[in-house]
Amino acid sequence: MATQLASAYADLSLFIGGEWVSSGGRESSAVINPATEEVIGHVPHASKTDLDRALAAAAEGFKTWRAVFPDERGRILKRAADLMRERKEEIARIATIESGKVLAETRIEVMMSANILEWYAEEGRRAYGRVLPQRAPGTRLTVVKEPVGPVAAFAPWNFPLGNPARKIGAALGAGCSCILKPAEETPASGLAVARCLVDAGLPGNVLAIVYGVPNDISTYLLASPIIRKISFTGSIPVGKHLMKLAADGMKRTTMELGGHAPVLVFDDVNVDKVLDASVVAKYRNAGQVCVSPTRFYVHEKIYNRFVEGFASRAKAVTVGDGLDDKNRMGPLIHARRLATVEAMVQNARDSGAKIQAGGSRLRSPGYFYSPTVISDVPNSARIMNEEPFGPIAVINPFSNFDSVMQQANRLPYGLAAFAFAESGRTIKLLGEQLEAGMVGLNTYAISVPESPFGGVKESGHGSEEGIEGLEACLVTKFISEA
Ligand code: NAD
Repeated sequence: MATQLASAYADLSLFIGGEWVSSGGRESSAVINPATEEVIGHVPHASKTDLDRALAAAAEGFKTWRAVFPDERGRILKRAADLMRERKEEIARIATIESGKVLAETRIEVMMSANILEWYAEEGRRAYGRVLPQRAPGTRLTVVKEPVGPVAAFAPWNFPLGNPARKIGAALGAGCSCILKPAEETPASGLAVARCLVDAGLPGNVLAIVYGVPNDISTYLLASPIIRKISFTGSIPVGKHLMKLAADGMKRTTMELGGHAPVLVFDDVNVDKVLDASVVAKYRNAGQVCVSPTRFYVHEKIYNRFVEGFASRAKAVTVGDGLDDKNRMGPLIHARRLATVEAMVQNARDSGAKIQAGGSRLRSPGYFYSPTVISDVPNSARIMNEEPFGPIAVINPFSNFDSVMQQANRLPYGLAAFAFAESGRTIKLLGEQLEAGMVGLNTYAISVPESPFGGVKESGHGSEEGIEGLEACLVTKFISEA
């Protein structure tokens, strides 16, 4: 098994100036399969010379690509989407091996990524400007949209295919070149997305893929005047740090940062139906999802039943290597995440919360943590304030609308919020009052390629996908002709 896996990683490389650049004596870091803790490859780190080449290529690639008409750009993106679908099994396996996510989820992620590329392929043709009414005869007042310029993008490991597809799709759809640093934990997935684009005919200089020490790479790229826009998905502290660096060059930013999604469950719902949907949503990618439902606030009339139902369903989730189709949840990404989750649960325990299911590591090797349910958690516990990014559902009771809304909006996060209720009036008020960039009412499905994905408050700004995703890579120019 180890040899087989290692060979799947033999061609880890950088992609710069249209060339796949292998290690060649560069520094590197180990890539670990989180289900087995095996080292499955080494990802080369870009040197400063490599980054300078990537920047020069991005400057050239921008000139080339912006001159390609949007329908031709779209054809290349669509061809890449088709290649991705053809390579579904191969790419899903790569993503599972390096991220730990179960195959059922990585297969969906391949298709989702292809759909995202296709969305931008189409939407790029609709970067419309407008013609304003004249103020004098013979004059023309025009507003046009132009690509912002070379984009530096940083994608995390939790959607190793979806995040790169979002960032590359937006940049390329708008006519920008892009230097992407996918996560060092999941390098082969980022390269697999790039390979589909290259095989689809993307000109060499338009896209670069680099790896390294994240802070070194971002500091270097953001300092370059060539880069005109930053797109980052990751934690709030890193997002704030990158915004400060971006400010020096007045570079535009899209920040998709963490969340701490509340879920409000009212007493008129079908409890079993909500539980079935909630357990699937909570343990997806072992809870390492920015829109993962985290704080369940359940009406006191159905509270005990809800807690018991959640705990029994959590105990039935099969956990193990994502390559085995019988498993519904894989490991956490790395030992650091496991340690953080353990500490948060211990802190909740110490704060007087009740562990209803899980609450411990599972067997090793592998960074497995049990699907966990914690009830009656005080607001002072860490987990009520910090993004758990792990397989933990927190459940507390509520008695009335105003008090639960105050709890739901209590934190500085504002990425996703969910609620379940039958009453039409309650649903209307929930939609109005929940402070989040994405609100799911009687559903956990809050993302399709045509909908904007992004947060408010400290969860970030700007959206990916939707017409907003393209707009984020465009600038506005007003032309006045006399
Ligand atoms: P982390 O903050 O070390 O890293 C998160 C991501 O940011 C990684 O992909 C990393 O490569 C990147 N990164 C870190 N420092 C960077 C820098 N200076 N420049 C550019 N990129 C940088 O945390 P982690 O332990 O890997 O992940 C856990 C935390 O990250 C979670 O608690 C969660 O808040 C956040 N996270 C959020 C998302 C999301 O979808 N919003 C995804 C992954 C991680």
